[in-house]
Amino acid sequence: MRRGTNLPWVGDYNQAVVLDGVRRHPGTSRTELATATGLTLQTVSNIVRRLLDRGLVQEGVPEGVACGGPARVRSGGKPRTALSVRPGRALAVGVQFEREHVDAVLLDLSGQVLGTVREHLPDETGPATSVRPAVGHATDAVARLVGASGCADAVLGVGVAAPGPLDFSGPVLSSAINLPGWRGVPIADLLADATGLPVLVENDATAAAVGDLWSSPRVGRSFLYLHVGAGIGGGVVVRDEVLRGVSGNAGEVGHVVVDPHGPPCPCGATGCLEAVAAPVAVVRRYAERVGTPAARAAGLRLTEHTVLDDHDRLELLARGGDAVADAELARAAAAIARAVLGVVNVVDVSEVVLGGGGLRRTGERVREAVRRGLGVAMTRELHPVQVRFGEAGELAGALGAASAVLHEALSSTWVGVHAPAREIVISPVAPVH
Ligand SMILES: [Zn+2]
Repeated sequence: MRRGTNLPWVGDYNQAVVLDGVRRHPGTSRTELATATGLTLQTVSNIVRRLLDRGLVQEGVPEGVACGGPARVRSGGKPRTALSVRPGRALAVGVQFEREHVDAVLLDLSGQVLGTVREHLPDETGPATSVRPAVGHATDAVARLVGASGCADAVLGVGVAAPGPLDFSGPVLSSAINLPGWRGVPIADLLADATGLPVLVENDATAAAVGDLWSSPRVGRSFLYLHVGAGIGGGVVVRDEVLRGVSGNAGEVGHVVVDPHGPPCPCGATGCLEAVAAPVAVVRRYAERVGTPAARAAGLRLTEHTVLDDHDRLELLARGGDAVADAELARAAAAIARAVLGVVNVVDVSEVVLGGGGLRRTGERVREAVRRGLGVAMTRELHPVQVRFGEAGELAGALGAASAVLHEALSSTWVGVHAPAREIVISPVAPVH
């Protein structure tokens, strides 16, 4: 659990710390919270009183979800001093754009996923060409999700996981270098106007890291989240804090040079990890080596919107004895391992978390390469570095974006979030008794 401070001017931070403690440890008591956070029992009690008044926390351990109204509370067992987050009271939608689809999830403050929707993007509306039609599909996904939940009044806002880099200096603009259709698009404003909800935008890999942080009960974690979607991105977390950098774009692992003699990258450099190992690069190289007719005969469709499916297909071909597919996937996995080793040596983390649709079938191959590569990590004799898959899978970015909204709404000082497009307000409700 994070440590609080007893200075009077950081009340919001302490409130977020206490709320996070209750969220991660349902059934915890004020005394336990005081011990874990380093706050005085009086301070914790005051904050808990405020959280009870706002209806964000309740006494007892909840069962089930009730929008805004009283949750069913388990009787017996834990006494009424046990605290838990009130389910259904504060919700957020997370949206993640991929080349082929838009995912939306509805997340509850207690961490429950109340619903998911996937909208497939027709070829001509993909975010690579123009983001505006894709925003239309995202708006539909949000409306369906919120409508089906019956919890519209409890939805605080929409978090968007978007491909970076992002310009946070004004209305959030995307400057995604390898997705020309995204450049200069005010994503937050577009989606806020379309949905009528406050919107915040987060780099997709950072959002995935936030999602992994949010969904884990463990505290004090330090990890690199490697997101392999159509492209490759990274999010770095050190002791539960997201490393953001000067402009909020830290973690561009996809643009670490892994092969100086490799292919040119749209960013301007040569031999970036993304240019060598992203699914789109691997699929393209395979087609070049065997020829387009042979690639099609092998089951690849070779369109912009089937990149991840084609990438999955390559792994199946490799397992079936296709030496070219095997060699290209091995080259990509080795490149990923090389970049991860470099980042781990720089930031000294104890976990590498792998996620994204680009690892649906190649995940084990990549994990093994990364694990082997870390055999020469500088800190190998000091601590192990675990390599594992993110628990949220393909939805990590969407979940992270949703959890970022909840954090932003509940703490004005949480470091992992950029200012939302509009103010988020939680109105008080009658305490539950
Ligand atoms: Zn690059």
